[in-house]
Amino acid sequence: VSYIDTVKRFVGLTTDPADPDLRRGFDDEPVEQGPKYLVLSDEERSRGFVRPLRTAYVHDACGTVTTMALPIAETYARQPAFYGGTYCVGCRKHLPVAEFRWVTPDGKHTDERVGS
Ligand SMILES: [Zn+2]
Repeated sequence: VSYIDTVKRFVGLTTDPADPDLRRGFDDEPVEQGPKYLVLSDEERSRGFVRPLRTAYVHDACGTVTTMALPIAETYARQPAFYGGTYCVGCRKHLPVAEFRWVTPDGKHTDERVGS
């Protein structure tokens, strides 16, 4: 079972910023993911990426690599500053994107900050 399968099962995606299932802000205590995350529409994501498509990031504080669902990765690639926070599966918290760096598809850790 890949992480993307897990995301499909447990975490919903929505293109509606007013969806009541969207969670906001950062966590002081560990929490579960979701229930839903906001993504850009298929149409908007299909207009082209301004950053390389990357599906994983590493958290500076704990060194854990978190993988994300493809529509979320495509949203980051289309609009890098779309998200203010993101989830760490190691800390189990939503934290500011500036605490994370991108990991390339072949697993190389970069110095490039998520959200920039
Ligand atoms: Zn962490």
